[in-house]
Amino acid sequence: MSDEIKRIGVFTSGGDAPGMNAAIRAVVRTAAYSHIDVYGIRRGYQGMIDNDFVELKSRSVANIIQLGGTVLKTARCDDFRTPEGRALAAKNLKTQQIDALVCIGGNGSYTGAMKLYEEHRIPTIGLPGTIDNDLYGTDFTIGYDTAINTACDAIDKIRDTAGSHNRVFLVEVMGRDAGFIALAVGISGGAEAIFIPEQKGEMSQLMDHFKDTSRRTKSFSIVVVAEGDRQGGALAIQDRLETEFDDIDVRTTILGHIQRGGSPTARDRVLASQLGYEAVEALRKGEVSKAVGIVGGEVILTDFEVAIGKSKQVNPDLIRMAEILAN
Ligand code: ATP
Repeated sequence: MSDEIKRIGVFTSGGDAPGMNAAIRAVVRTAAYSHIDVYGIRRGYQGMIDNDFVELKSRSVANIIQLGGTVLKTARCDDFRTPEGRALAAKNLKTQQIDALVCIGGNGSYTGAMKLYEEHRIPTIGLPGTIDNDLYGTDFTIGYDTAINTACDAIDKIRDTAGSHNRVFLVEVMGRDAGFIALAVGISGGAEAIFIPEQKGEMSQLMDHFKDTSRRTKSFSIVVVAEGDRQGGALAIQDRLETEFDDIDVRTTILGHIQRGGSPTARDRVLASQLGYEAVEALRKGEVSKAVGIVGGEVILTDFEVAIGKSKQVNPDLIRMAEILAN
C-alpha cells in the first residue's frame, strides 16, 4: 500500500459521457472511506492550468449518480499539449498538494496524463469515459450502454411511424472511427443493414438487395449508419439510393448529440461505480499511468501506453450474425 497519497484530484476530459458523474461520486466516496481528500478539477486539463479546483466531500456528490453529462464539466485544452502548459498544471497541482489524479476520459486524456507522469511524476489512473466504446483494455466504456439504449429507443419510435411500402429509413449514429455503437444499435433495432467504418462492401450489398425486387418483401427497411462510415454518412447513402431507385422513398435521421445525453442506464452506473472504486484502490496500491477496465468480468489495469497504442476491434461474429438476422 502506498501511504504517500493524502489528496487526489479527479477530472473529466474530452467528450462527456453519461455515467461520468457516477464515476466522480465513486472516486470521492472511496477516497473518503480511506481518509484521502479529493479535489475536483473543473474543465479537465484547462482547469488544471487555470487553477480551477473545488474540494469534494462525500456529501458534495450526493444526488448526482442519475445525472447525464459531468458536474465537473469537460474541455479540450490545447495548452496542455505543450510542455509549458503541463509544467504550469503540475505546479498548480503541487501548490494544492494533490499527490495523484483520476482521469475520466478517452485516449487523448490518457496521453496527457501519461506525459504528466513522465515529466512531473504525478501519478494518474484513467477511467474509460466515452460513448464510443473504442478504448482498449475494457469490454465496455462508461456511457456506451446509455448511448446505444437512446439510439435503440429512437429506432423503435421510427419503426412505429414507418408503415408504408418501399420506404428506407437511414439512421445515422455516432462513431467517427469505430462501429461499436452502430453494430449494437443495428442488432438491437433489427436493422436491415449496418454501415460501419471497419467494413466495406455494405453499399453494393444494399444496392443488390433493392435491385432484386423479389427480395423486397418487407414493408420498410431500417439501415443504421455510423457517422464515420466510408460512404460519407447517411446523407451520402441517401443520395446514392435516390439516384439509383425511383421507387424507393428514403428518409434520413441523424441522431447526433442526443446520444450523449440523458440519465445513465443502471448498467453504466454500475460500471462507473466499479471503475471509480478500483481507480482509487489502484492509486493506493501505488499504481501509476494505467487505465482501469473490466475484461471478461475481471477488473484489469492496462498501461496507458498499451491502452493508447492498441485498438479494440469490433467482433466479426456479431457482424456476420447481424447479416443473417436481417434476412
Ligand atoms: P474522446 O474519446 O471523447 O475524444 P479524449 O480524451 O480522446 O476523449 P481528446 O480531445 O483527444 O479527447 O483529449 C482530451 C484532452 O487531452 C485534450 O484537449 C488535451 O488537453 C489532452 N491531450 C490530448 N492529446 C494529448 C497529447 N498528445 N499530449 C498532451 N495532452 C493531450
